[in-house]
Amino acid sequence: MRRQRRTKVVATLGPASGDRVMINRMFEAGADVFRINMSHTHPDRMRELVGMIRSVEAEHNRPIGVLVDLQGPKLRVGTFKDGPVTIDQGQHFTLDTDPAPGDPTRVQLPHPEIFAAIKPGDSLLIDDGKLRLVAAEVTPDRIVAEVEIGGKISNRKGVSLPDTVIPLAALATKDIADLEAALDAGVDWIALSFIQRPEDVAEAKKLTRGRAAVMAKIEKPQAVARLSDILELADALMVARGDLGVEMPLERVPGVQKEMTRACRRAGKPVVVATQMLESMIASPVPTRAEVSDVATAIYDGADAVMLSAESASGQYPVEAVATMNRIAEEVEDDAAYLPSVHVLHTEPEATGADAIAAAARQVAETLDLSAIVCWTCSGSTGMRVSRERPNCPIIAISPIDAAGRKLSVVWGIHCVIDEDAHDQDDMVERACRIAFKERFAKAGQRVIVVAGVPLGTPGATNFMRIAYVGDGAAGD
Ligand code: PGA
Ligand code: MN
Repeated sequence: MRRQRRTKVVATLGPASGDRVMINRMFEAGADVFRINMSHTHPDRMRELVGMIRSVEAEHNRPIGVLVDLQGPKLRVGTFKDGPVTIDQGQHFTLDTDPAPGDPTRVQLPHPEIFAAIKPGDSLLIDDGKLRLVAAEVTPDRIVAEVEIGGKISNRKGVSLPDTVIPLAALATKDIADLEAALDAGVDWIALSFIQRPEDVAEAKKLTRGRAAVMAKIEKPQAVARLSDILELADALMVARGDLGVEMPLERVPGVQKEMTRACRRAGKPVVVATQMLESMIASPVPTRAEVSDVATAIYDGADAVMLSAESASGQYPVEAVATMNRIAEEVEDDAAYLPSVHVLHTEPEATGADAIAAAARQVAETLDLSAIVCWTCSGSTGMRVSRERPNCPIIAISPIDAAGRKLSVVWGIHCVIDEDAHDQDDMVERACRIAFKERFAKAGQRVIVVAGVPLGTPGATNFMRIAYVGDGAAGD
């Protein structure tokens, strides 16, 4: 089976989609990657879901990506003595280190790191930004804040501090345990929530040791400010528009989305656009016009993937939401203006063999109107460099390694096939042609371009390119 589009679809699993039947239906409708959100999932349940995904993968014989999203350092207030309290604009409210239950004048903030980092004038947003307080007076165990936008606070509501860099570990104890469980379960991508600094990514990379790729979620202004350093260390970025829209003015989010898309495309690393893409489909079988336009915009910009969150995890129409994204992507990519729009961002090849060959392969493929670029890739890196070129013909990646195929499931334009390693160059070319034929990317008599690193299996050593005729699929053509 092959998709009729280049942009990939990530679907979050949850109560509305957590059984094998639903996972299978969502895969068939177009989900290329499944996301498991550890904020709401027990490690045992995560293992169970990974097992179901792998069984769907085996049934269809197509690599499927699994993305495990770690909760990260989510800050919360403590609890209240007599239920929720209401605070009003202009009054003072105190956040302190005292674990005693709160009242209408104060509540515990059980994160000592905040008291050391916050300065008078810094904002505190509570409950997804519904309430806004400004720190007036700060001591090592007390923040007296002025209420700018009042409202109701209840137990353990989330707090964000957009103006303060907090020296919090990027991975809490729970995150480290979840990460180990995810690596054990053989997942492909780990997403890091609420990172602030490149060091946070470095810490996760140290723990994953290459066993999974690391996707940095950009959902704090502090991370936006360090975007290029973070991108240098991360394997991919997610435009986490949900929390980003809480922590910075909403109207800045589209600009950040565009900036991140450009930065990732230049770096040749995948970018996933996430959150509220088809939000109304949580409760309706059809999206709004604005939502369709939002998904289309991300696609016209050349994003690698678009993501569903609550729409597929807890909404009433998970399969329809996936099918809708699939249809939007197919239609947009069918538009004659699609590739020109993607190519508005011109990505100069970097001075490496892999990039030079990827750029040359694209040019040859386009000049000769070839049917596909077929690349042999062990780690997936050759595939990613070819994808970075955003060529107008399909990209087939052949890898002997399951994990490489699964990792590439989030990458723009790549159709990955797992097959045993080639014995020599002739075998490599011959098998590339046969796979292109069998997977219906080329007909007999058409040509493809084969790209590889020779000797095979040396990562980053892309140095080989050959134009070859596709036979009729019979052995030994
Ligand atoms: P979340 O992250 O769904 O884990 O909150 C995405 C976002 O904030 O947009
Ligand atoms: Mn988030």
